[in-house]
Amino acid sequence: VQGACSKLSTTTCPYCGVGCGVDVTSNVEGDSEQLVSVQGTASHPANFGRLCVKGSKLAETNVKQGRLMTPMVDGQRAQWDAAISTVANKFASLIEEHGPDSVAFYVSGQLLTEDYYVANKLMKGYIGSGNIDTNSRLCMSSAVAAYKRAFGADTVPCSYEDLELTELLVLVGSNAAWTHPVLFQRIERAKKLNPNMRLVFIDPRRTASCEAGDLHLPIKPGTDVALFNGLVHYLEQNKHLNTDYIAAFTEGFDDTITACESWTLSAVAEYCDVNQSLIEQFYQLFAGSESAISFYSMGVNQSSSGVDKANAIINCHLATGKIGREGCGPFSITGQPNAMGGREVGGLANMLACHMDIGNAQHRALVKSYWQSPTIVPDIGLKAVDMFDAIEQGKIKAIWVMATNPMVSMPNRHKIKAALNKCEMVVVSDCVANNDTIAMADVVLPATGWSEKNGTVTNSERRISRQRGFLPPTGEARHDWQIICDVAKKMGFSNGFNYANPSEIFDEYCGLTAEQNNGSRDLDLSGLCGLTQKQYDNLAPIQWPVNKANPDGVKRMFTDGRFFTASQKAQFIAIEAKGPEQATTTEFPFVLNSGRVRDQWHTMTRTGTSADLTSHVAHASVALNNVDASKLQVKEGDLLALSSQVSTSLSQVILPVKIDDGQRNGEFFAPIHWSEQNHAAANISHLYTDANDSISGQPELKHAAINALKV
Ligand code: SF4
Repeated sequence: VQGACSKLSTTTCPYCGVGCGVDVTSNVEGDSEQLVSVQGTASHPANFGRLCVKGSKLAETNVKQGRLMTPMVDGQRAQWDAAISTVANKFASLIEEHGPDSVAFYVSGQLLTEDYYVANKLMKGYIGSGNIDTNSRLCMSSAVAAYKRAFGADTVPCSYEDLELTELLVLVGSNAAWTHPVLFQRIERAKKLNPNMRLVFIDPRRTASCEAGDLHLPIKPGTDVALFNGLVHYLEQNKHLNTDYIAAFTEGFDDTITACESWTLSAVAEYCDVNQSLIEQFYQLFAGSESAISFYSMGVNQSSSGVDKANAIINCHLATGKIGREGCGPFSITGQPNAMGGREVGGLANMLACHMDIGNAQHRALVKSYWQSPTIVPDIGLKAVDMFDAIEQGKIKAIWVMATNPMVSMPNRHKIKAALNKCEMVVVSDCVANNDTIAMADVVLPATGWSEKNGTVTNSERRISRQRGFLPPTGEARHDWQIICDVAKKMGFSNGFNYANPSEIFDEYCGLTAEQNNGSRDLDLSGLCGLTQKQYDNLAPIQWPVNKANPDGVKRMFTDGRFFTASQKAQFIAIEAKGPEQATTTEFPFVLNSGRVRDQWHTMTRTGTSADLTSHVAHASVALNNVDASKLQVKEGDLLALSSQVSTSLSQVILPVKIDDGQRNGEFFAPIHWSEQNHAAANISHLYTDANDSISGQPELKHAAINALKV
């Protein structure tokens, strides 16, 4: 076509924590630009050219249809200035009248690190509240808390490369074939190249992933602590402990071995409801392997004892010294593309910034001084579940939801709806025009989307990659960091928010990680300070820390056996097993587990419009085995009405039956994606109570007690 040309760009996939590099080709013709094709970036260390189905359909789902084009106030189109003033004036007046804790931000692992950084800075350093939490609370906050308990810092020890170098890979609570497909492809390839590599799956369900494994332990949901306590006991009884490692680099082993001593093989088998020989095979594999990785995800984290489960896993690695070496370590895999970047800058209500703590007076003083901010958050803020409680109780009077849809993703939808109804002002900034949360909003602000945004994300192996905008903003959309800075300036905070572009924010963020660090904190990006715009634009994927000693980043942490605790020793945590909070009763006798399907993303706001992606699983369903189907007198396709102690007659969930003999007796599974906007009566958040981990606040989204009746 005359006047048309192609443009090539390299960016990062926005759909999961694997963080694959994507090469995009867009066509430019006059003022019009369009994304025409995508392929995996051959040189990106996360994917080496691979993409999964979702990633490979990015061109198809990156459309203008469904985008939010202009700001809206009270349902009417508004000018940007007016919309920004409405938000800033309301927030300022509430803060003046009721104090800083009367407002809140609920943000997202979809934000780029630079967006997250300024949102956190505004709330914690200028408004002076800790009330900024993120949907990453639902994703990996238990893993964060467990790492901090054991290592003194939220430090992921491993690299993806370790998945290919290990003798034993134990996947716990993860259906990686569907949720992290490119990593799973790498694992399958590694096993093909090394037939001696062993794959063990620990999951109540027999999922698509289990087909590739050597051993599947279908444990009773919520019994992971007993299984891993039993492993520590087995290692001790059979003289497989690494006593030198324990003595040199750890503390707290004696209490842990005491907590584990009752977990004999038979006790574990009975508690976990799994054949004893399967457990013994797993224990023998772990004991006999020179290297082992535990790869864990939502099945561990989304639990009322998620932190304990993760520490029980970490204990096994410390007891055998299977950490800080090739192919070794407890490896938490995040769900969202930038869940890691968010926790790095401090986007969780209990963190300050850059892996510094709100409870540490020196950290607070350092951050306040660096930000030159008028105030600094004195106490930790409210975690997601508590935040929406506080809204319902009238304590939080205005909330700004950024790039997420809590009406569908948070547990107890009824309460979330009541809270948002009660809130004096609900602001939503998002790239889509409609979702269940936007339907509750007073002010809606159009944000740029994946193909338009510039910044950085961090994947599950601590690797920072550039996300590069290659199309102009759609409609009147603005970048999230710009919207946040505009509101901050309108609130009177003109000094801290005058950035010209995201590279200035990134530079400030890197500078804060370097402040008085001297290796005392794990997150150190001093080696990335002072990048020119060109260097930032061309930044190659790199694993933090990046500093003078490690200018090319670090693959593997704790290789020297030194940790970030006061004593520099890793901490064993003695743990007692306890059951899920949402226990079954005679009234609610079934367990509901939840998770993703392979080709959909979160609440389907992006992937739900693609015919190709929808063809894999066309509609929501509830999976149960033939035994339960017979009991309930249902067959494939019949409708089941699901209820729980928090659902109401108006919020019943009705789903077609899917017979799946990979389900244990009495245990059902339903996908998380469908909302009331795209499939009435399919939003399972109606069924989950507020049960959450007492340390991390992560909701128990894998274990609801429900009843089911044929419709
Ligand atoms: Fe995107 Fe994750 Fe698929 Fe990679 S594995 S292409 S990051 S969705």
